[in-house]
Amino acid sequence: MRPTIAVRAIKRPPKPTQRGSRTRLRPREQEGQPQMEKRKLNYFSTQILNKRNKVLVKLAGLEKDLEALQHNQPKDWAEVNNDTWERETIMQKIDTEKENLRRANDSLRKMIDGSYGMCASCGQHILEARLRALPLASLCIKCQIKEETWARQAC
Ligand SMILES: [Zn+2]
Repeated sequence: MRPTIAVRAIKRPPKPTQRGSRTRLRPREQEGQPQMEKRKLNYFSTQILNKRNKVLVKLAGLEKDLEALQHNQPKDWAEVNNDTWERETIMQKIDTEKENLRRANDSLRKMIDGSYGMCASCGQHILEARLRALPLASLCIKCQIKEETWARQAC
């Protein structure tokens, strides 16, 4: 079997931000921000790895679905229509899972460089309760809300 797209496409250039001029603080260089303790790091790394494995399984399934669809031989326009719709739905799901994979890889990278659990925008600690609910969160709640407000305004 050929290698799946999922494995090959781990690296993706970061999305351009809508606010180019804003400089992001490098969390590691912030003073007075101790790194997360080992016990917690272990807990979160397990969470992230579990999530990453689930994403990989989902991606493999979606790619199988897509391949099955390619062998489909529609008999009429309604089936063509349905196939097209299904293909688009699967492609969207693949995009979502690839984004999740990217975020999981990003979180693991941050664990290694010591910046996991710190907001990528303001450099402050992300609340532990937030990380427990969303281990892949890269922004604190304040910055997340700001980001969403910007995104809405950009629409
Ligand atoms: Zn923040």
